[in-house]
Amino acid sequence: MAFKELDTAGWQALDSAHYLHPFTDHANLAKTGSRVAVRGEGVYVWDNNGDRIIDGLSGLGCVNIGYGRPELAKAVYDQMLDLSYCQSFFNTTHRSAVELADTLTSMLPEGLNHVFFQSSGSEANETAVRLIRKYWDLVGRPEKRVIIARELAYHGSTHMAASLSGITPMHYAGGDLPLPGIARINTPYQYRHGANMTADDFGVVAARWLEDKILEIGPENVAAFFAEPAQSAGGAICPPMTYWPEVQRICRKYDVLLVADEVVCGFGRTGDWFGCYHYGFVPDIMQLGKGLTSGYLPLSACVISDRITDVLIGLGGEWAHGYTYSGHPACCAVALENIRILREEKIVENAKAELVPYFKAKLETFVDHPLIGDVRSVGLMGGLEIVKDKKTGESYLYEEHIGPYCSAEAMKRGLAFRANGDTMSLMPPLVITKDQLDTVFDIAREALDATAKHLGKM
Ligand code: PMP
Repeated sequence: MAFKELDTAGWQALDSAHYLHPFTDHANLAKTGSRVAVRGEGVYVWDNNGDRIIDGLSGLGCVNIGYGRPELAKAVYDQMLDLSYCQSFFNTTHRSAVELADTLTSMLPEGLNHVFFQSSGSEANETAVRLIRKYWDLVGRPEKRVIIARELAYHGSTHMAASLSGITPMHYAGGDLPLPGIARINTPYQYRHGANMTADDFGVVAARWLEDKILEIGPENVAAFFAEPAQSAGGAICPPMTYWPEVQRICRKYDVLLVADEVVCGFGRTGDWFGCYHYGFVPDIMQLGKGLTSGYLPLSACVISDRITDVLIGLGGEWAHGYTYSGHPACCAVALENIRILREEKIVENAKAELVPYFKAKLETFVDHPLIGDVRSVGLMGGLEIVKDKKTGESYLYEEHIGPYCSAEAMKRGLAFRANGDTMSLMPPLVITKDQLDTVFDIAREALDATAKHLGKM
């Protein structure tokens, strides 16, 4: 039978028989069946049954520019006809990669002048760790090895990236994780760790946890601090504005490299082009992914400061690291076109001026909802934390799967609304309109109301 003649149940059966999905309970999925997506345009995705879903999540925080832009498809098509593949190992380069590296470094803070490309955020984080370790070796301080990461961090799913991540179920999935050489501190999650303080005070207190950890390990042993400007998968944990400047001060004081995983925050998610601009700091290494191509093709970038490349290029000899698809021409071409559109249509600037205040105000209307204990956001990344007891902040047990229940209720009504634990997250495309945001929030409320009824709270 031709594949195209399958009905939804047919696709679901084949999916279940052969396709393993990321972060999925497959026994459960076999019961419910996958949603079979067939088309995307703007902020909408249609499934095989003809149902339209408004994508409150930009796919996975990547489709910042919206689905189905023909200019991006054309950029890929043209590049593939010109030069469909190019290795960059053996003294070879190509125009799209060079142009993209030049474009990115011109958009980023001074002193970040080199770019290494790979396909995913996880791989960009692997590159960052190899660079960190290589750097300290080359400058004759190999004892500086410990990387400090945070609770509830998400840095990806390869061994090192999963080890840096602070979402603990990931450490059991493959066994033997986290890898050695990683220390962990708590995260600037004010609702849980500083509710009795002002945001400004809490930001400084949370940053000082880094200083405490550096002193505990000994600054001579600490290589880097590795963190997302705002944490997305951890549950939209958005630090106070005092946090990052203090973190930067501490890193400089103890000569600890500051590494910003901007895989989600980069390209407008925080309301500014990059999280480091929003929060006011300059990293030594910065990882970009997702919004770099708006998800049209897989590409990530590890952007590296002169401090590191001066040593790597000056002393390093061969940099024995890289991927077949480092700087893939089609991926670089689509990133360039994506950046061109974002700039020409002022998508980030318009989102900041028009959408961000509206999004924040809409989120805040949920403060009074019987299930919501905390509301938080930065830019177009927001979280509504479901709690069992609004007074004490007590959570539901993980096994009760309340977040996923709410997520399923939203999907029934046509909204992609993600549960990160019990925090319901929204990360809409930066091109969403206010009317479309109204729909997102109407459905989000219906889904939360349905969840509250299910729990006997309404
Ligand atoms: N870093 C952050 C902050 C992320 O949110 C993610 C993915 N959600 C990654 C890294 C990993 O990226 P990828 O899935 O492309 O490997």
